Amino acid sequence: FRIPDFPDLRTTIEKIFWECRNVEDGFPASYIPQLAKMDKDYWGVSLCTIDGQRHHIGDSEINFTIQSCSKPLTYGLALNEVGRTAVHKYVGKEPSGRMFNSLTLDYNSKPHNPMINSGAIVVCGVILALVHPEMDSATKFDFVCQYLKAMAGNDPIGFNNSVFLSEKSSGNRNFAIAFHLMDNHCFPEKVKVKDVLDFYFQLCSFEVNCQSLAVIAGTLANGGVCPTTGEKVLEAEAVRDVLTLMHSCGMYDYSGEFAFFVGLPAKSGVSGATMVVVPNVMGLATFAPPLDPMGNSYKGLKFCKELVNVYNFHRFDDL
Ligand code: GLU
Repeated sequence: FRIPDFPDLRTTIEKIFWECRNVEDGFPASYIPQLAKMDKDYWGVSLCTIDGQRHHIGDSEINFTIQSCSKPLTYGLALNEVGRTAVHKYVGKEPSGRMFNSLTLDYNSKPHNPMINSGAIVVCGVILALVHPEMDSATKFDFVCQYLKAMAGNDPIGFNNSVFLSEKSSGNRNFAIAFHLMDNHCFPEKVKVKDVLDFYFQLCSFEVNCQSLAVIAGTLANGGVCPTTGEKVLEAEAVRDVLTLMHSCGMYDYSGEFAFFVGLPAKSGVSGATMVVVPNVMGLATFAPPLDPMGNSYKGLKFCKELVNVYNFHRFDDL
């Protein structure tokens, strides 16, 4: 596969897009009204190659909240700022084998990995307490926002305040997780439950679309250098760790099956977003709200499976 074959790639992606259009299973997430009322027929795909070529199909400009697709990004930010050892003092690297929002910890009393809620909340604590601790919460929010914008090549990144408020008022499980983490001394010193959850809910409420999310995925595919601006946003070692854990833990309780059938690092979110990285080739983002029982987008999942049927993108296709 060579990226100069872009016209071919575009045609193939469009073909797969139309095949997935017919998938009618599932319903949008219903735990907050803002997600429940999403049009279940939205279907968009974008790609951004590591040499900055882009292609968009369908509802690629419809905005949606980034939700759990923020988890690998804030993990990457934390790694980039304080390094692997400091981050993994607080969070493991192992698939949990449990629901993404479960209250379990690993044998070291740490969250299993940064791709599930408990792990992501701890990473939020690391960013609050150890990354520029002098920043107040507004400055810290701007700081993270700048990171995301840089990964997205300055494509617009928004914030959905109604989703943020809903997440906060319906977030009993996340409060329970945060108190459980506090009780088990999982946070760096001085982290407060209210602050860390506010920060976590804010990160879930960033608004993107397929186009911006594909550039973000492209930055990961390109080892941390944004393909559209050439800006180095993340160190390659940080990206390596991010992709490793997306590969093993990024698709909820389907992560093992996904690694088996698709063999690519990916992360999905309850809004129906799926961010897929083809290392050294391109980033892809798909958006379709109806979810399967694990929380993955039905259309997004089918898209990934079709993609590796056509191209040898599976990690072990090239043996
Ligand atoms: N806001 C959701 C939660 O924390 C994010 C879940 C997700 O996208 O997996 O429950």
